[in-house]
Amino acid sequence: MAEYDYDLFVIGAGSGGVRAARFSANYGARVAVAEDRFMGGTCVNVGCIPKKLFVYASHFHEEFGDAEAYGWTVKPEAFDWRTLVENKDTEIKRLNGIYERLLEGSGVEIKHGRATVVDPHTVEVDGTQYTAENILVASGSWPNDWDFEGFEHVITSNEAFYLDKLPKRVLVAGAGYIAVEFAGIFNGLGVETTLVYRGDLIMRGFDNDIRHHLQGEMEKKGIDFKFNVTFDKVEKTDDGLKAYCSDGTILEADEILFAIGRSPNVDGLGLEEAGVKLKDNGAVIVDDYFRTSVPSIFAIGDVIDRYQLTPVALAEGMAVAKTLFRDEPSKVDYEYIATAVFSQPPVGTVGLTEAEAREQYGDVTIFKSSFKPLKHTLTGRDEQTFMKMIVDKATDKVVGIHMVGADAGEMMQGFAVALKAGATKAVFDQTIGIHPTSAEEFVTMRDPVPEEEARAAE
Ligand code: NDP
Repeated sequence: MAEYDYDLFVIGAGSGGVRAARFSANYGARVAVAEDRFMGGTCVNVGCIPKKLFVYASHFHEEFGDAEAYGWTVKPEAFDWRTLVENKDTEIKRLNGIYERLLEGSGVEIKHGRATVVDPHTVEVDGTQYTAENILVASGSWPNDWDFEGFEHVITSNEAFYLDKLPKRVLVAGAGYIAVEFAGIFNGLGVETTLVYRGDLIMRGFDNDIRHHLQGEMEKKGIDFKFNVTFDKVEKTDDGLKAYCSDGTILEADEILFAIGRSPNVDGLGLEEAGVKLKDNGAVIVDDYFRTSVPSIFAIGDVIDRYQLTPVALAEGMAVAKTLFRDEPSKVDYEYIATAVFSQPPVGTVGLTEAEAREQYGDVTIFKSSFKPLKHTLTGRDEQTFMKMIVDKATDKVVGIHMVGADAGEMMQGFAVALKAGATKAVFDQTIGIHPTSAEEFVTMRDPVPEEEARAAE
């Protein structure tokens, strides 16, 4: 008879947890997964999927405007927020069901409820204890909040997906992924949108040229930016909300969305009591194989705070399943992870920024291109696509590709394959373009930016 109830007990049915649970079960393990909110976790319910649906919704506004130049007469436009939210909810419910059926179909037992770790081999869900040879913590992350008077009046991305009505005026705090994506969504839907940031250039961590270009394009679309500003106090008024800012200004809005990072979701999980070591920010410390300081407890995804990206959590979940149940110790290769920001226009990026490349390789060659996309030659819309390539001079290897412009996310996936394969600039040059596309620009970049000019721009 088995010593434990399960071979693997997974805490959290988000992207990483579901992947690990399903594949472990497929490899023959007896698996249970506990989830206290919604199947599919952040990405499916309050992240990637509904966000991208909202981006589509908001982009129609521009499409209607652009259509005229192509001969279309568009009826007076009207937007109904409730229809969007209800249709989105229906789709999310369908996805929740798919996740549940995928788990059940693999033989995974689902425990609906909040799990806590009791000891290295025991998990409790709603008063019932289960034993497991291995426990996997895949509890994700949660939006950071902030402590100032009136903080209870602001919302996070969790609530933004379920607002009863579309606000007329929005303040978005932060300038990372979620802030720029939601600023674009609200602005596209006709909401007066102001992005309030404590620094002076959005998207810290991205290539500087990308940051400047995106900021400029967002400004052109009508988003207002307030830089070097934080919130001191928020007050509810008859007319909405009043934000008292650190520079003495008072901003008024109907909603204030805080998107200032996400922290590992470890509160009340009992991890430290069970001997699991955490970083100061709560991130679970794991080795290359996702094993925590307690040998029978593993952790993956946002809760280990390496990359808060769904595809990374999927890869980590897969690695744990292989390590534990296929006798194939597996790590994850984090080099050249491509990512997209679904801002408007979107950003796609893979590899090093110019600053990182200069630090890592010393001598680099920079190629840049900025142009009006073909579509807008007729519409007259003042939108510029920007592309950048960074090449290590010594090896000719392309070490970074960055873009702001339509379909950047779609494009970057293929370039990520090329960079992972070690493609050199010569290989890019030998590649024949697809005409007419924006992507062809990446295989026709002939003249590098003169060194002094490139350094001055950085
Ligand atoms: P990010 O880390 O991307 O951005 C956080 C922003 O908030 C930064 O601009 C940061 O400023 C600012 N900030 C942090 N602390 C404070 C503070 N105390 N007061 C004021 N501003 C502050 O986090 P997000 O919340 O936008 O997203 C969380 C993560 O989710 C992302 O990092 C990403 O990994 C993932 N995600 C991925 C998406 C995608 O793949 N398209 C989409 C959405 C989220 P500063 O730079 O100065 O520190």
